[in-house]
Amino acid sequence: MKITVFGAGYVGLVTAACLAEMGNGVVCVDVDKDRIALLNAGGVPIHEPGLDGLLQRNVAAGRLEFTTDAAAAVAHATLVFIAVGTPPAEDGSADLAHVLAAATTVGRHMRDYKVVVDKSTVPVGTADRVHAAIAHELKARGTPLPYAVVSNPEFLKEGAAIDDFMRPDRIVLGCDDEQAGLLLRAVYAPFVRNRDRLLIMDVRSAELTKYAANAMLATRISFMNELALLAEALGADIEQVRHGIGSDPRIGTHFLYAGCGWGGSCFPKDVRALLRTGAEAGQPLSLLQSVLRINQRQRALLSDRVEARFGSDLRGHVFALWGLAFKPGTDDLREAPSLTVVDALLERGAQVVAFDPVAMPKAAALWRGREGFTLADTPLDAVRGASALLLLTEWREFRSPDFDALKAALREPVLFDGRNLWDPAQMRELGFEYHGIGRGART
Ligand code: NAD
Repeated sequence: MKITVFGAGYVGLVTAACLAEMGNGVVCVDVDKDRIALLNAGGVPIHEPGLDGLLQRNVAAGRLEFTTDAAAAVAHATLVFIAVGTPPAEDGSADLAHVLAAATTVGRHMRDYKVVVDKSTVPVGTADRVHAAIAHELKARGTPLPYAVVSNPEFLKEGAAIDDFMRPDRIVLGCDDEQAGLLLRAVYAPFVRNRDRLLIMDVRSAELTKYAANAMLATRISFMNELALLAEALGADIEQVRHGIGSDPRIGTHFLYAGCGWGGSCFPKDVRALLRTGAEAGQPLSLLQSVLRINQRQRALLSDRVEARFGSDLRGHVFALWGLAFKPGTDDLREAPSLTVVDALLERGAQVVAFDPVAMPKAAALWRGREGFTLADTPLDAVRGASALLLLTEWREFRSPDFDALKAALREPVLFDGRNLWDPAQMRELGFEYHGIGRGART
């Protein structure tokens, strides 16, 4: 089948590459000329495990092309995925400018039947707006043409995106059009061969499902973060509590990790967008308001603790940061907790030296010229002479570092473990002053 994908970001690239891998002829179009030039030169603009090889293989096989030529891209296929960004607007709502621009482009260039698939995360009612944007263009051209708009939210996780797309837990299709439904069923059939995991529902329910999923996951983490503070106050250990509750299959083990707050390209913006949707619909979401508030407090926790330990004037102190990406497996820094921590430390006059296994190029671009912030070549280089080490991302390589070397390199052996990666008792035995999150056990 021929397929067009709008957007060559985390979702668009993975979607295009995985669809090509199944034998489809895919054209991926983006407005970012540099990004398309890089892709056409064999480069990959994002870090996503396995994506390099997949892109190379499918480009070489002639199944995958990148272009900025939107007219040609629209002409290429009946099936057009929209996987462009939906960043937060000032008021917290999802900014649909890119989605509607892509829809307008489709309307402007289409010459025959199209099935337009909203893969971007978009609020309830967006499919109607995409429909209207296309209708508007067709009317302006005076060419009535048939088309359908389908909602197909994406659930992939950065860092495991290829696997998630290839072996999805479920594929949600919001579809009111029989012909479009059949087409999408055919596209996704290879991904669900062993067990049908296609959930077909109405468009508005599909749109809401994506926000509901992210809001639920964010809620679980905020719940544990709030409980972590209580555990500390009571002398209990949130990690032991996590094991205790996670073994109940009704609760499950995922997304129960207390830490220095959630971030990334999806949770913060999607929670805020859902809050906005609730307010606009006259159904304020008070639980979700608390979820967001708890997270804001949590993101400030590490720097507040540094202040409590070293004083509010941090001039003369260097702090080492391990991990800048919002989670392991990605170079994505969007709304990462590290942004909050770096800002807070720099504002208090400290110097920050950071290391991240893959996010260094993006970090260099983000903090370029920021006084007091530097990047180190190795984890150990980052800690040399530092007053404390702050661990922000639980990359595997940070799990079992050479603690003796670490202690010797630090000016003071102080650890702020924002991901509860290390064992408090072991750290104390090794001579560290250890600060975890919710690790108040008095044993
Ligand atoms: P991204 O910022 O990495 O990529 C978006 C791309 O769209 C950019 O390359 C941009 O240049 C391009 N673009 C913008 N306007 C365009 C237009 N008119 N035509 C063609 N290309 C255009 O974004 P992302 O992380 O891939 O997210 C895309 C959408 O998917 C968002 O709605 C996001 O919420 C959702 N989503 C993201 C993830 C994730 O983990 N990143 C997971 C599930 C869903």
